Amino acid sequence: MQKDIATPVRTKEIMEKHGFSFKKSLGQNFLIDPNILRNITEYAGLTKETGVIEIGPGIGALTEHLARTAKKVAAYEIDQRLLPILADTLSPYDNVKIIHEDILKADIQQMIEEEFADVKEIMVVANLPYYVTTPIILKLLEEKLPIRGIVVMLQKEVGDRIAAKPGTKEYGSLSIAIQYYTTAETVMIVPKSVFIPQPNVDSAVIRMLLRERPAVSVRDEVFFFQIAKMSFAQRRKTLMNNLTSGLPDGKKRKSDIAHALELAGIEPSRRGETLSMNEFAALSDALFPLFG
Ligand code: SAM
Repeated sequence: MQKDIATPVRTKEIMEKHGFSFKKSLGQNFLIDPNILRNITEYAGLTKETGVIEIGPGIGALTEHLARTAKKVAAYEIDQRLLPILADTLSPYDNVKIIHEDILKADIQQMIEEEFADVKEIMVVANLPYYVTTPIILKLLEEKLPIRGIVVMLQKEVGDRIAAKPGTKEYGSLSIAIQYYTTAETVMIVPKSVFIPQPNVDSAVIRMLLRERPAVSVRDEVFFFQIAKMSFAQRRKTLMNNLTSGLPDGKKRKSDIAHALELAGIEPSRRGETLSMNEFAALSDALFPLFG
């Protein structure tokens, strides 16, 4: 087996050979620690029957670990300059397909149909570009792709918000959006020193495994997410205040809102951050016939 790409020496060699320079605007912080990569693949629970979707292979540091453990890897890379480098570094692996596309614009469902007909399960595994972490994760979940889960490196602060429990300062509409679809947990905290260049923030690996069905059942999903977002619009305000500001004609229809809160068994003076997912579901179901 060839020496890992993700060592400081080999990464520098590859970059010099190809005259590559980092683009900060594309979130290019490459991993240079093979142990971290081994841990990430282990947390993803990959087997020779898994198809992996990777986002942002960079020079292939994580990709080669995925290729060694999974059946097939499809990796989306936006930066054209990396394509010849990846063709070089990943030449020992015949189970990797590099797709030169912005993940946010990609038809992932179609790619899955074309590339993953012969795999038993699909996982998303990536060291995400930090400037677009949240839109990427939400796209993967909202498109209801046939994936088992997502294991990704991201900013620790975003990871904390994704996995947050009610009553904490990190808990918000992002926690709800993601925990609605998945069980989300932080599996590893990662120091800055394992990247070049080093990012400004600490990182974490988050594992999100898709639930068989959403955490709560609601009358209308879009409305449920709108109510959750509205309830956190101004964190210091009460639920009643945020709802009267956010709902159409809310100020005139205070009694309708009070009625819905009562129906859902929620005190109007509470703050959004204290509501569990079940309480948000009860609240949005009570508001939906009136405002949906
Ligand atoms: N996987 C490599 C590693 O761990 O060393 C590189 C990770 S680096 C944090 C993020 C990668 O995502 C970069 O290669 C960057 O060019 C790529 N990228 C940035 N925005 C992207 C997008 N919208 N779609 C696909 N790839 C993107």
